[in-house]
Amino acid sequence: PKNPSPDVGKLAKELRSGHRAALARAITLIESRRADHQAAARDLVQALLPDTGKAVRVGITGSPGVGKSTTIDALGMFLIDRGHKVAVLAVDPSSARTGGSILGDKTRMARLANSDAAFVRPSPSSGTLGGVAAKTREAMLLCEAAGFDVVLVETVGIGQSETAVSDMTDSFLALMLPGAGDELQGIKKGLVELADMIAINKADGDNVKRANLAAAEYRSALHILSPRSEHWHPPVVTYSALTGTGMDTLWQKILDHRTAMNASGEFAARRREQQVKWMWSMLEQWMMARLRSDAAIRAKVSKTEIDVADGRITPAVAAEQIAEWLR
Ligand code: GDP
Repeated sequence: PKNPSPDVGKLAKELRSGHRAALARAITLIESRRADHQAAARDLVQALLPDTGKAVRVGITGSPGVGKSTTIDALGMFLIDRGHKVAVLAVDPSSARTGGSILGDKTRMARLANSDAAFVRPSPSSGTLGGVAAKTREAMLLCEAAGFDVVLVETVGIGQSETAVSDMTDSFLALMLPGAGDELQGIKKGLVELADMIAINKADGDNVKRANLAAAEYRSALHILSPRSEHWHPPVVTYSALTGTGMDTLWQKILDHRTAMNASGEFAARRREQQVKWMWSMLEQWMMARLRSDAAIRAKVSKTEIDVADGRITPAVAAEQIAEWLR
């Protein structure tokens, strides 16, 4: 074949030594649809599993224009200055339709893109949200094995992709804008059930006062809602990605959250749950892929669909029959 399956052992070794080119190749392998590539990717991730899990995994969401890329560039550089290695990944299900993701785009994070201590990768563009999320999760493990100790996962403010990113990270950060009007929108949409922290960006120049007012509004709104954990009340901070003011507090709150979750045992519990959830999600995708790709099964399923529509057999009987074919 034109792209022979790589030597998994060799790739794992290069990746462990922190080779960014090897990391990029490994993620491309994960994103490949070819069956032999997928088998190699599975072996690779399994081989690297002992080297994973040690990063601080942070999810970052916010509407377009809120300053996600500016924030990630600034936060990333802040962390690199303190000796961290930072990976940036993205979950953007719309990239499957548009053919390219702007999230995690290197051109939006100019300083990080030029730093040897950073690795920036745009969203995979592979169909369903489940598929995109699965690939991003595996890419995150590879980044950890390559020695990146902070992984920032970016997504847009859309309910389902936010849930997906929250399901793969330890701390989930919602970015907001200063200013009246719709600042409580996110809270109404149930974002607060996911957010471990609310950060109001652009608190600079004329915006400082409005940012502080917005922060106060969010704080009082958060008070009447039940938080995600009884051991952590999501803080509201203001900062400026442009000037860097407040970036230290923002990062400190992420570390405080981590400390609190560790102390209560929720950190380990959350990671365990995430792993099991991930297994089920992959199984679901595998079954659906099998249903779609196996022509013989597909033909039988089409016929079964008609039988169910016409009322000849019950959906329950049909489902059991299909499950049998998948064995
Ligand atoms: P994204 O769409 O969420 O990734 O937002 P961007 O990072 O591209 O930022 C959108 C716009 O807001 C750009 O013009 C940025 O320069 C501007 N911006 C981002 N952060 C700040 C900030 O802290 N202060 C100010 N004044 N502008 C900012």
